[in-house]
Amino acid sequence: MSWTYDPTNVFARILRGEIPNKTVMETPHTLVFHDINPQAPVHVLVIPKGAYVSLDHFSAEAPEEEIVDFHRTVAKVCAILGLSGEEGFRAIANAGMNGHQEVPHFHLHILGGRPLGRMLE
Ligand code: 5GP
Repeated sequence: MSWTYDPTNVFARILRGEIPNKTVMETPHTLVFHDINPQAPVHVLVIPKGAYVSLDHFSAEAPEEEIVDFHRTVAKVCAILGLSGEEGFRAIANAGMNGHQEVPHFHLHILGGRPLGRMLE
């Protein structure tokens, strides 16, 4: 499997500082920022700083240090935003055409702050 990363995508531009963002948290390998078009009271995007197109690309090819950093950051940001524990949240990673992924840099949506309804029947 090979993935071709487009370095002109909007999240690559955010990572290079070419487009402003509302950062929630940053680590050496991961950035968390508010979605520009929030679908819930809390809607943030967690992205690796490395050039990965999608969840499967990241999971297959990122060094373990980056994968661990990504997931630890998810946990920290959920705690910071008050989503941990019983209140909860939804995490979504769209991939490719069928997943309707619009930005071809892997990102995890984290949504919360209201009941989000049943997603899968
Ligand atoms: P996708 O469909 O690729 O999973 O979702 C892409 C997400 O990126 C959308 O929720 C969209 O609102 C968000 N987005 C697109 N452009 C920008 C931007 O320039 N800044 C921020 N913060 N979010 C963006």
